[in-house]
Amino acid sequence: MSPFRLCARPELSALSYMRTRARAAWLIETEHVEALAEALSVPPLAGLPRLVLGEGSNVLFAGDFPGLLIRFRKRGLRWREAKQGVTAVEVAAGERWDRLVWESVRRGLWGLENLVSIPGTVGAAPVQNIGAYGRELHEVLEEVELFDLEEARHLRLKAEECDLGYRSSRFRRASGQDRWLITAIRLRLSSEPAPRLDYPGLREMLCALGGREDDPAHIARAVAALRRRKLPDPAREPNLGSFFKNPVLPADRYQALRNELPALPGWPQADGTIKVPAAFLIEACGLKTLTGRGCRISPQHALVIVSEPGAEGGAVLDLARRVRDAVLARFQVELEPEPAIVGGSWP
Ligand SMILES: Cc1cc2nc3c(=O)[nH]c(=O)nc-3n(C[C@H](O)[C@H](O)[C@H](O)COP(=O)(O)OP(=O)(O)OC[C@H]3O[C@@H](n4cnc5c(N)ncnc54)[C@H](O)[C@@H]3O)c2cc1C
Repeated sequence: MSPFRLCARPELSALSYMRTRARAAWLIETEHVEALAEALSVPPLAGLPRLVLGEGSNVLFAGDFPGLLIRFRKRGLRWREAKQGVTAVEVAAGERWDRLVWESVRRGLWGLENLVSIPGTVGAAPVQNIGAYGRELHEVLEEVELFDLEEARHLRLKAEECDLGYRSSRFRRASGQDRWLITAIRLRLSSEPAPRLDYPGLREMLCALGGREDDPAHIARAVAALRRRKLPDPAREPNLGSFFKNPVLPADRYQALRNELPALPGWPQADGTIKVPAAFLIEACGLKTLTGRGCRISPQHALVIVSEPGAEGGAVLDLARRVRDAVLARFQVELEPEPAIVGGSWP
């Protein structure tokens, strides 16, 4: 049996949660990086632009991609014995993120409970340092295992070496220039209760469900319920979650905006800057009902763009640009997209 599956001219609507129509030149799927290295060194794959793909929950195919998509499918979790209340777990990149979260809370471990229900694979999690409901991956990430696609070698990076920031890391690069394939990650989870319930509405939801603060599974259930209520379901309305990052502003800029928008929330960051909700700015521009060809701003959440199956990626990109331009013109704040944009350009 071949150690990889190779497909020419794959149709991409099933490979992105936005379901837009496009094609790549090639798709390769494997569980074996050595086989991958060999395939990449010879025609027809040698020298092609490359994009590593997980489940496509954060990738917009805005047009065709004249290169190679790589999917690393290896799954599996290895739990280490607990030492002084800390349990390490190693997880292969092709594993589903949400399976890891539920496994961890079932074991009574803390650290991932607020990150429940984020779609996608474990390998993609460090790429934008996934975060939700007051927690980010960097708080529990210890190490990332990588395969260097250019030099065909394995290496490990400590979390501190990954430049993890708000929805960013050293792994986010211009699409098509992927060099690093994340093959596994290692996390440290604690058995000491550490509930984080400050996120608006979370404590109330926990109470409403009759959940306890000292059980990470109860907190995960409360977060999952809040997410179901707030976000459109991608299975029914194709979407990539938040389409824009929340802008982070200098404190004086935030104050100036507050004069115009007294109700604008702000979350102070460790370096003195203030993060503001992009959804608030979008709604303040009156864009909540904005529509494009086969796509629109979700009536449920202004940060989400939903599309109809088979919509064109270019139309989604046009709609997003209209949002960015309107917010820029009105508030002089430039919104940045959160998903990777492939086969189209943003500026
Ligand atoms: C409904 C919905 C809700 C969401 N909510 C959140 C949220 O709360 N918080 C949040 O942070 N994100 C959220 N997201 C975004 C998304 O789920 C995450 O970014 C997720 O980690 C993407 O996983 P994926 O496997 O689908 O990656 P993909 O979308 O396939 O890829 C995302 C990026 O990671 C790169 N990549 C993927 N796998 C690897 C790998 N093994 N090695 C190297 N690079 C790789 C890709 O090249 C691409 O740049 C949401 C998305 C949706 C659709």
